[in-house]
Amino acid sequence: MPDHTLGPGRQAAAGTRDVVTLIRAKRDGERPLADDEIRWLLRAYLGKEVSDEQMAALLMAIYFNGLDSRELRAWTGEMIASGDRLDLSALADPAQEARPTVDKHSTGGVGDKVSLILAPLVASCGAVVPMLSGRGLGHTGGTLDKLESIPGFRTDLGAPEMVAALRQAGAVIAAAGPGLAPADRELYRLRDVTGTVESIPLIASSIMSKKIAEGTSALVLDVKTGTGAFMADASRAIELATVMVALGEEHGVRTRALVTRMDTPLGRAVGNALEVEEAVAALRGEGPADLMELTLALARQMLDLAGLPDADPAEAISSGRAYQAWQAMVRAQGGDPDAPLPRAEVVSTALPAPADGYLTRLDALSIGIAGWRLGAGRARKEDAVDPAAGVRLLAKPGDYVRKGEHIAELHGDERVHSGYVLEALAGAVTVGTEPPAERGVIVEQVGYR
Ligand code: URA
Repeated sequence: MPDHTLGPGRQAAAGTRDVVTLIRAKRDGERPLADDEIRWLLRAYLGKEVSDEQMAALLMAIYFNGLDSRELRAWTGEMIASGDRLDLSALADPAQEARPTVDKHSTGGVGDKVSLILAPLVASCGAVVPMLSGRGLGHTGGTLDKLESIPGFRTDLGAPEMVAALRQAGAVIAAAGPGLAPADRELYRLRDVTGTVESIPLIASSIMSKKIAEGTSALVLDVKTGTGAFMADASRAIELATVMVALGEEHGVRTRALVTRMDTPLGRAVGNALEVEEAVAALRGEGPADLMELTLALARQMLDLAGLPDADPAEAISSGRAYQAWQAMVRAQGGDPDAPLPRAEVVSTALPAPADGYLTRLDALSIGIAGWRLGAGRARKEDAVDPAAGVRLLAKPGDYVRKGEHIAELHGDERVHSGYVLEALAGAVTVGTEPPAERGVIVEQVGYR
């Protein structure tokens, strides 16, 4: 019989299979959950033996009381074990050493098209980049949505197709299939509707279970902080980065993290096709400075972790190799790199500068929400996105602007004139008499030995 009578301070026996006892133990901070209890809990939840209500209560208890490092390792391990682990050993060439695999994950930001540049760039320097990515939800865009604005580009590759594309192009960016860490999908759905998304151990296990299951041997994390980031506070972002790096290492993946600024959009383009266009410019050596600074920093870390510390990503861009690798990746996934990208029916300028002076603030969240309301993002997972919609920034912090000069160009349909879009931009900029202090995009590095 389950014992539902344990009160605060009472010791529950290790190895219990009674979910209410486990919820109470976590709720009251009585004791950590044992590895076998975590294994049983997650399996019982997926098998519908533990209900959504019970798991929601446990998630809330974790939200308040956390998981210690042993519990988190076991929790993440069980999430990985809930599905398939991609086997990239097929990439090994019997005549040669296997090429090193390395991936990057970003916690998401406004105008963050770095993955599109980085995957072919790092592949052109000799590593293999198996990138499994997601779709955008809310104000941050998704890499798959951006790539799908390229005519013919397919992101739904099965494992054999993914290995074939990797052999052909050295880089692939595809959707995580349903077999990858299915426990995360169920837990995320529940967290989303129970106010338990913003928990460092739950975020870390969610992200890392998918990244570890994808079979990469090394991983660089880009953890964003600032108004447009999921983790606005820098100290929380650093804590998240530290926990994720430890989890990766414990599961045999060489992992490092950069904590990077997301107070203003990255680059000048926000929206799917607009971002592809900017990523292609970057691969041709014509990217904006902040985008290039971050991309090259992440590329160097990826190449170092992949055992290629002497590779030079800046040279790969200037020589044209990175752009060729992009074309190869797009073709290997069914796309036409030379086809025109979708263009918006209506383009209109907006966001007048409030005074003459230097742009000192251009808020990432406001621009992200405006792009989303124009149709570049989705409110629910099932919604379609408009590939042509988005915002092009005509000025960035540090630029001198004149009163009334428009700072944004809105791309989309008739919504470019709607109050719903324009009100998202209210208060998005600050203009001052002095230029803002120069700040690099990197706030902190985690996991450097
Ligand atoms: N992204 C994820 O994949 N999981 C989270 O919990 C948060 C962001």
